[in-house]
Amino acid sequence: NALDIAVPTTLTTTPIPAIQPLVQTIRANWTRTRALHSLSFRKQQLRQLAKLMNENEDLLCAALYHDLHKSRYQTQFSEFFTTTTEIAEAVKHLDAWAKPEYPSRQLVNLTDTVMVRKDPVGVVLVIGAWNYPLYLTLSPMVAAIAAGNAVVLKPSEVSPHTAQVLADLIPKYLDPRFFQVVNGGVPETSEVLKAKFDHILYTGNGSVARIIMSAAAKHLTPVTLELGGKSPAVIHPSADLRNAARRIVFGKFINCGQTCVAPDYILISRDQQDEFVRELQAAITEMYGADPKDSPDYGRIVADRHFDRLAGYIKSFDKPHPAQDDLAGQATYGGQIAIGGSPAATWTKADRYIPPTVLTNVGIDSPIMEDEIFGPLLPIVPLDTPSDATADADLADDEWGNNRGADAFMRQAASLIGRRDHPLALYVFGRDAAACEWLVAHTQSGGVTVNDTIMHLVTAGLPFGGVGGSGIGAYHGKFGFDAMTHKRAVLKRAMGLEFVNSVRYAPLGETQLSL
Ligand code: NAD
Repeated sequence: NALDIAVPTTLTTTPIPAIQPLVQTIRANWTRTRALHSLSFRKQQLRQLAKLMNENEDLLCAALYHDLHKSRYQTQFSEFFTTTTEIAEAVKHLDAWAKPEYPSRQLVNLTDTVMVRKDPVGVVLVIGAWNYPLYLTLSPMVAAIAAGNAVVLKPSEVSPHTAQVLADLIPKYLDPRFFQVVNGGVPETSEVLKAKFDHILYTGNGSVARIIMSAAAKHLTPVTLELGGKSPAVIHPSADLRNAARRIVFGKFINCGQTCVAPDYILISRDQQDEFVRELQAAITEMYGADPKDSPDYGRIVADRHFDRLAGYIKSFDKPHPAQDDLAGQATYGGQIAIGGSPAATWTKADRYIPPTVLTNVGIDSPIMEDEIFGPLLPIVPLDTPSDATADADLADDEWGNNRGADAFMRQAASLIGRRDHPLALYVFGRDAAACEWLVAHTQSGGVTVNDTIMHLVTAGLPFGGVGGSGIGAYHGKFGFDAMTHKRAVLKRAMGLEFVNSVRYAPLGETQLSL
């Protein structure tokens, strides 16, 4: 079994005194050599990144298995395929992306060259998260390299096996004059953040994002912040419940719910809740077997801290559980465990296993509805709009067509979604295309998939990023290239033709411009 191959077990952290010199050396190399201004050098480095992945597939799969219990197939699908697609896109389109643009000229510029150069910004800091520890470190690097930048990479210390393998491999495949890994936790990251960068791309949670942004502000460094949030899945009464359930089970339980765009909670009409739970159960059994603990495709929680947080939620729903005593005096949680959860025998901290868990009749103000869950717990918040209340006679279409497709169910869903931070993703399921479109138009989110989950993230040509609480900026494909490129305005004029300029030179006297 290739997953049994030896993986480095300890994370070697970068000595703090070495960090500032490391960044300064990279900056000096980037400035002095100008190698990364060459498109062919960028493509060569991108191909090296693909080679790093191909030649070390076993080692990387083993590291992912040790960090997150990811099966080889899961790693291939969610880490390799996603990253190598980004590399292939960048290599294929780099010439076109990097070409200067020539905007249309106005009369006064007819003899000039008017152009927008695509210049690299310089040195980029990439800070990755642990849940897709290859994809979330290497695909931002793809964008940075394509745009001609040097990179300091800080992988997450919460996935230490992958972090160490990256630190071992990157200097062997990429040019170490421009690409370096800093490993460690908060002290090392805080030290890196003291240095001046030309762009920072951070993936992680909103609290640390505020620390990153304050550090960036000291140097006026632009940031891309890839954050999370509570991404809703709205099941319109017109939806095919079986297909919706299967697609939600896929998106929710892949990587044990530790996916930034996983559906966080479900909104569905109360009279469809029971049938939907039956479909969810069928899909869970079909995909992960009678006991998901034995499924090679079912992951584990990354660390004890996250396990305890998720177990706390389950205990609060599990009425007879002794831990209920600890909750004395706390707000009432409401809701029941319909699938998974306790009984204690089925989940243990020993290997940080928590089963796919579905919670029904959860109130919108329940504590589990406050923060992003980031684990395999799926609360269903039933809406009291009956499933046949799709016609909404009192809401006539206005003159801009704003209410086309509106119905009572979607309006209630939009109002609940609109009360909280804009989520990273929005999922809406339904055969009624006008109703789905109405919901999309009346909500805000980083991205949307209609009638599926997660797939907008891996669709070539779409930007990936949040809005409001779920992030700032976007990347993937050309959007990543643009995020780390300076669009430099260049106007080239002839040395002669001086008479054309006299109109703007003093003395202007009584000259009037007819505008
Ligand atoms: P994490 O704990 O791995 O932290 C991310 C990075 O921040 C790490 O490299 C870590 O070293 C660094 N960090 C942590 N504390 C720090 C501090 N005090 N100062 C400086 N740096 C610090 O990851 P996480 O935050 O647990 O990740 C989960 C969150 O990330 C979720 O909210 C999830 O939705 C979000 N996420 C977003 C995306 C996306 O692409 N939008 C992808 C994955 C995860």
